[in-house]
Amino acid sequence: SEQLWRNTVRSLEPHIPGQATKAAKQQLKATNVIRLATNENPYGPSPKAIEAMQKAIQEGHLYPDPSCWELRDKLGRLHGIDPENYVIANGADNIINLMIASYINPGDEVVYCAPTFSEYNKNTTIMGGIPVEVPTTTDHKFDLEAMFQAINEKTKMVIICNPNNPTGTILDGDEIRGFLKRLPKHVVPILDEAYVDFIDVNGYETGIDFIKEGLPVIVLRTFSKLYGLAGMRVGYAVANEELIKPLHMVREPFACNRVAHGGALGALDDIDYKNKVLTRNKQEMKKLVTALRNQGFEVEESHTNFIFCDMKQDTTGIANELAERGLIVRPANIWDLPNYMRISIGTPEQNDQLLKALEEIT
Ligand code: PMP
Repeated sequence: SEQLWRNTVRSLEPHIPGQATKAAKQQLKATNVIRLATNENPYGPSPKAIEAMQKAIQEGHLYPDPSCWELRDKLGRLHGIDPENYVIANGADNIINLMIASYINPGDEVVYCAPTFSEYNKNTTIMGGIPVEVPTTTDHKFDLEAMFQAINEKTKMVIICNPNNPTGTILDGDEIRGFLKRLPKHVVPILDEAYVDFIDVNGYETGIDFIKEGLPVIVLRTFSKLYGLAGMRVGYAVANEELIKPLHMVREPFACNRVAHGGALGALDDIDYKNKVLTRNKQEMKKLVTALRNQGFEVEESHTNFIFCDMKQDTTGIANELAERGLIVRPANIWDLPNYMRISIGTPEQNDQLLKALEEIT
């Protein structure tokens, strides 16, 4: 039956949970495992989100609102953008499917930097597009100048991941603005801001600012990280009317389920929860970075809820040993950086366990 598959599907790796290591696969089945591989929020959802989700379950026999009006309205007010300019879907992953399915024809080129989030490559490939991966700078930042040089008449889309996954690096607002302004009209710009809520820089300008200035860019965000709803699957895109329209054409009618929709509304209301998560993330990141540097590893400054570490040796073995101890991290061999490892910031206790285990192993 593989004969029947689309050619573009043949080259893809199947998604298997815990594909990073064999031990991780076994460990993910265990209940007491410490998950530091997928940048989730370790503190659970906000109490307000839980309350809203429980309420939504009572109406589980009814289809959700296909337009997600309440959430679009709330986001619109929050950002000062027309609610009509949002698409809500089943996680930011689904938004990436929609963006590429709406814009990419076979043979079109999609330019972005690598290492970055693997879904850009996969979705481009599925649609018959051509991923053009430009190396990041030596300090692991998106290289916008090199991306600009890679643009030609076949380029249909550029993607900036800011902050970047897995490196945790950010660009200045002015750099991104300048790049967006220089782009030729036949190129659709995407700004993936899955981790933007963790940036702790005074006056930092985001994609919302660029949209309000009238710049054509599709901004992508998620409730999986700061808002602690990764298991619910809710993310969104926001852009001007023209850019957002085709996403509504290709999306599923009920792309965001009732419970997720309720949870997202509840999470947006819970300012205390957000502040608590941000404070703890910052404290724990500082603790981890200091301890790992003291252990002799090189750790990049990160603006997210994870860190990217040069362990000075192949990290597959370290990741396997950690998995044996019930700690799952992400070795960066999938990005062809075998000495690097991405670690999500856990709770204080989880981070202590990680540091202790690393001291034993390395
Ligand atoms: N973009 C980036 C850069 C990510 O790291 C992730 C999740 N790891 C996503 C998008 C997808 O997030 P979601 O959970 O909303 O699908």
